[in-house]
Amino acid sequence: MFGSWFRGRRRRALLAADFSDAWEQTLRSTVRQFPQLSVERQRRVRQIVQVFVAEKDWVGAGTEVTDEMRVTVAGHAGLMACGYDEPYFYDKLATVIIYPRTIRFDPERVERYTALPDFPAEGVAFQRGPVLLSWATVRRELAGRAPGRNVILHELAHHVDGLLDDMDGTPAWSDRRRAAKWQEVAEREFLQLAGSARRREPTLLDHYGATNRAEFFAVATECFFELPQAMRRRHGELYELLAGFYQLDPAEWFAPAAFAEQQGAEPTPRRVHRRPHGRPAGGAAGETVDAQIIAQRHAELLRQRDQTRLRALSSMTEADALYTLALGHLDARPPRAADAERIFSQLLQGNPADEEALAHRGLARWMQGNVVGAQADCDAALAIDPVDVDALEVRARLSLAERRWPAALADVQLALRELPQDADLLALRGDAHAGLQQWSRALNDYSDAVAYDPYHAAALRGRAVAHDALGFRQRAAADRRRAESIEPTK
Ligand SMILES: [Zn+2]
Repeated sequence: MFGSWFRGRRRRALLAADFSDAWEQTLRSTVRQFPQLSVERQRRVRQIVQVFVAEKDWVGAGTEVTDEMRVTVAGHAGLMACGYDEPYFYDKLATVIIYPRTIRFDPERVERYTALPDFPAEGVAFQRGPVLLSWATVRRELAGRAPGRNVILHELAHHVDGLLDDMDGTPAWSDRRRAAKWQEVAEREFLQLAGSARRREPTLLDHYGATNRAEFFAVATECFFELPQAMRRRHGELYELLAGFYQLDPAEWFAPAAFAEQQGAEPTPRRVHRRPHGRPAGGAAGETVDAQIIAQRHAELLRQRDQTRLRALSSMTEADALYTLALGHLDARPPRAADAERIFSQLLQGNPADEEALAHRGLARWMQGNVVGAQADCDAALAIDPVDVDALEVRARLSLAERRWPAALADVQLALRELPQDADLLALRGDAHAGLQQWSRALNDYSDAVAYDPYHAAALRGRAVAHDALGFRQRAAADRRRAESIEPTK
């Protein structure tokens, strides 16, 4: 499928050479899928390793590149490509750069070369360029401390994605029918993941995959090789498509018991720290081993977050600490509005003119259906600070619920003056315009909201109504489908 078999005499010589025992050891200990492969596929992996190690330009950025590093990376490259009839030796990948720790570029260079990431990264893959890896991350992941994650597979997936065209999450499919199926399934799964990530629901696929479609493909590839059984069960169509793409069926490699042994052999603390702007993902408990591992990790993370919060609390004034605690209740999924209200009330006993506490208690009361109390709190907060955005938003929502459209519109307008790009506020103004049957204005507001936040299901549903009212039936249907993918109605 990719490239030609032998590339000259040098490559023939490489393939004829013995595979050293030391390399075999490394392969078996670092590529945990390797021992499960058929003899035929293991031979193919070794071939790819021999060529990959010899032909790539290996660069250490502040660390010495060892044979173990080379074989570890090459072994994963071999794993990914061992399903094809014709071996692929990653001919379009010339350079692999190993960093000892997190990869950071100095800000001046980032400004000059916009292709460089401006955030600390655990791995980077450039289109038709080098692959960069943080070895600290590789080690942590190979030790089983972040089930489902594998930065080597992640970056190599970006490379494969970018082989024929852009790194856009649509790799080169062998036929058009499969390409179309991939578009359909990947888009649906991507939107679901984006919705779950927004709601901070635990998912099997790393939330980082909701960043964009390229990341989705890379994250899906990691999951496919690392947690194949769970993926086949929960994302069957996606799994089958990737199985077709890589021409491999990893779910068949691991008997659940063998998998448990391998993972269970590492009773290390599972500290997860993925590529920096990715939120660590957890998983729901299930009957199977890998689901349990994810659930354990999730629990661990929750404990860690609590510890961080406890530490933070001890260095604050009592009022700040209470405030943080109350916001935590409001932010929880599902929110604990009654607990939050109690704490805000306590704060207001100390200082009745604390308008932030008033606005947030209004929010907490509104969440519990206490319309009168919420209204009173918002009015009081706005008497102190007429442009408190939280109070304006809650009061606008109260007005909308009572179909007092002009009052809602007035509050939202004021709030938008403070935060003109806030998707929630834009969607609210759309609701107010819709209530007044000003459909073109409503349509503009919803479209603006969606432009700032493409996964805003409420804005999409609102826009569907506006589209219908204006006679754009197909657009209305498309918005509803998209909203349903992001946030299914129960
Ligand atoms: Zn990535």
